[in-house]
Amino acid sequence: MGYLEGFGITLRQHRLFGGERVTTEYSGGRRAKKKQDDARDVDHDEKLPRPERLHGRHVLNRYEDGMEKCIGCELCAGVCPADCIYVRGADNDPENPTSPGERFGFVYEINYLRCIHCDMCVEACPTEAITESKLFEFSFTNRNDAIYTKAELVVDDDGMPQKLPWEDWRAGDDLLTSGWMRATAPAGDATFEGEVGWSGELGYGVRAPEPAQVERDKTVRVVGQRVER
Ligand code: SF4
Ligand code: SF4
Repeated sequence: MGYLEGFGITLRQHRLFGGERVTTEYSGGRRAKKKQDDARDVDHDEKLPRPERLHGRHVLNRYEDGMEKCIGCELCAGVCPADCIYVRGADNDPENPTSPGERFGFVYEINYLRCIHCDMCVEACPTEAITESKLFEFSFTNRNDAIYTKAELVVDDDGMPQKLPWEDWRAGDDLLTSGWMRATAPAGDATFEGEVGWSGELGYGVRAPEPAQVERDKTVRVVGQRVER
């Protein structure tokens, strides 16, 4: 196909020529888009509420005393099915340690051109150092920028994800990081459901566990409604 033919396809899709526009402005979600269709002057720049277990951009967490949780063990890199994590551990300086362990994550990188947000890295991590936020609105203009470095991933001094200039953070995007992990103990054993399995975290403290399955089973979904049994 020549490029003039390509332009022709684009023009035929334009409303002026009777076509249907296929490229639409991202407006944060389906409900917001419907608002835009119904009343064009309504502010539609909003995000839909996120499912509790949505997997977004990662963060590297710190303990309440500010120490980094990552001990540079490389388990996350080993388990990643997309081979997109690069970690190098280094020995802690005994006088000024970065993490409570012998070693810490000296280099930590995630390539977001490869990541499929499966959270296998989160599940594998023995110290709950790596978790995922709810943010997925971030973009890059070159391949190098798609590789997040440790300096970008590690939480700030308040324990919150860094709000980087090319990311679209809204209220709630930094809450409940990897909520699904708290359904069970870190080992994934169902007998630990509902037990707090998370260490005190800078910014969040100790997170409450999710209710056990037996409690969740008390509710059933009936055609779009949630009713108690
Ligand atoms: S979420 Fe999955 S694909 Fe992404 S870095 Fe973790 S293990 Fe790899
Ligand atoms: S994030 Fe967790 S699994 Fe990965 S290197 Fe650090 S401590 Fe190990």
